[in-house]
Amino acid sequence: MPVIVAIDGPSGTGKSSTSKAVAAQLGLSYLDTGAQYRAITWWMVTNGIDTADPFAIASAAGKPEIVSGTDPEKPAITVDGIDVSGPIREQDVTSKVSAVSAVPEVRTRITELQRAIAGSAVTGIVVEGRDIGTTVLPDADLKVFLTASPEARAARRSGELEGADLHATREALVKRDAADSSRKTSPLAKADDAVEVDTTDLTLQQVIECVVTLVEE
Ligand code: C5P
Repeated sequence: MPVIVAIDGPSGTGKSSTSKAVAAQLGLSYLDTGAQYRAITWWMVTNGIDTADPFAIASAAGKPEIVSGTDPEKPAITVDGIDVSGPIREQDVTSKVSAVSAVPEVRTRITELQRAIAGSAVTGIVVEGRDIGTTVLPDADLKVFLTASPEARAARRSGELEGADLHATREALVKRDAADSSRKTSPLAKADDAVEVDTTDLTLQQVIECVVTLVEE
């Protein structure tokens, strides 16, 4: 039976690095669901859709063709055949992704893609996101919810972003968390049966080992 692992939590908790490493170590596929929401946001911005207008977003939600690579070593993502792995990390997309992903039509579309990908994984898959354990894959074999203090998360994020200011990064993270947590559909939330791992004082290697142990238990 393929093993399904859901890893949720806010950004800066080590979610992506942990999920990719766990998948690679256990020979599983990997899906970055944040990249899918970023990709649809990138398409909206590129096509001049007003991301502050939920009706405009809803009516365009079905248009872009989003294809996610599931190799944990090189998880590329394309939109209408264009590799957007780099552009989706830019500030303009990051500042708009919460608003776009709050639109129910966007969530329905992306959730369908996620379930199809998880359902076709041969050995199994590690799926990282915000609502995987609660909404997308509520029957996952293992659910992990990663947390860390806002300070640790901001330090990690500004380390990843060239020239980033620590204070501004912290403010932006807190704002995005608030938007992701307060939306009506599929908010960022810990599933009742998820194992919570506080990564504040752990190295990445320790978090990876902890999750691998949980999968193997
Ligand atoms: O994980 P990442 O920071 O790349 O996610 C970008 C954004 O995509 C999040 O801030 C959130 O608004 C949205 N997202 C979501 N549901 C998911 C994954 C990401 O709404 N499962």
